[in-house]
Amino acid sequence: MYLLMVIHLQLKLFTVGPVACYPQVLEEMGRQMFSHRSKDYIDLHKDLTFLLKEFLETEGEIFFFPSSGTGFMEASVRNCVERKMLICVNGSFGERYVEVARANGKEVVVLETKLGEPTMPDVLDDYLRRNPDVEAVAITHNETSIGLINPLEKLASVVKSHGKLLFVDAVSSMGGVDIKVDKWGIDVCFTSSQKCFGIPPGLAVASVSAEALKKSANMRNKGWYFDFILYKKYNERFSTPTTPPIPQMLGLRRILKIIRDEWGGKYKYFELYRERNRIIREGVEKIGLTLFPKRGFESPTVSCINAPKGMSGDEVYEAMRARGFELAHGYGKVKDVTFRIGNMGYIEFKDIHEMLKNLEEVVKSKG
Ligand code: PLP
Repeated sequence: MYLLMVIHLQLKLFTVGPVACYPQVLEEMGRQMFSHRSKDYIDLHKDLTFLLKEFLETEGEIFFFPSSGTGFMEASVRNCVERKMLICVNGSFGERYVEVARANGKEVVVLETKLGEPTMPDVLDDYLRRNPDVEAVAITHNETSIGLINPLEKLASVVKSHGKLLFVDAVSSMGGVDIKVDKWGIDVCFTSSQKCFGIPPGLAVASVSAEALKKSANMRNKGWYFDFILYKKYNERFSTPTTPPIPQMLGLRRILKIIRDEWGGKYKYFELYRERNRIIREGVEKIGLTLFPKRGFESPTVSCINAPKGMSGDEVYEAMRARGFELAHGYGKVKDVTFRIGNMGYIEFKDIHEMLKNLEEVVKSKG
């Protein structure tokens, strides 16, 4: 029993969210609470807004929701789509966007790729030509379920050439890879705290453009809790309409300051992600395993790996967990035949090497 507890406490996380949090974040989150109507909070909201605007390169609004990332999926649809939108689907989270839009009574044009393949700009262009009445396009930047990244900058340029609003689910990419919100013309770009920034779950953040706000201003039946205009009104005094998740916001401010002031800025942080990801990918390939997504579109934050011959993805997951490494199960349509290794949040290089060594032993034990 005691041994089991120790193993559990020492599990090394290679999850896809919630991910391991940076020690500095956990320390910061242990601070005593203060009221969200106090000066301490106003300073926090102001600092965080400034840091995120700088990080995302945007002059738009930054909103903090007391929800997970999916709250912004719903908010983008309710605030900015009157009737019809186009959603690009590469896997389970694109499918969720479709469900959310339909659950809110919107008509959806679905652009679905073959599983494992990205959305290509010429195909999106063709869909938009044939559906000129859609008001907005939603793209999952990094499809976590299959470890695939879409060519966002090129796709954004297509969306803008058709004059449509663009929503980007950046839940498993923001913080791990560069996103230039204003330059690329993204109207709503959102993430959850429990991914690349290495914070516990409970906070969702997004940038929201002036165009998106204009659309929201005239929208009927958009509800109250996630009303962008209400949020904007409160943002003017660095506040929120309801109680925000202050500990997560403190953690996020701390990590954004560390990235900027101690780790050499955001590009260095992206480099760190690329390096971790490269070691993992090369490591699994050396073991003889293959990655699920099309070559050239593998995610820099989540590797989705085909299960070895004679083993299911779940068996790999369980065997690794028994050795003290928490990877992630396969997800969606490839749940049984893949497993995933995340490289988000607090991960040490020595643990990556140790994890790969164990993975090799697990795979060889069956082969
Ligand atoms: N979109 C993507 C790409 C995700 O990876 C996830 C969660 O893993 C979500 C959306 C849903 O995020 P949340 O659970 O924070 O609502």
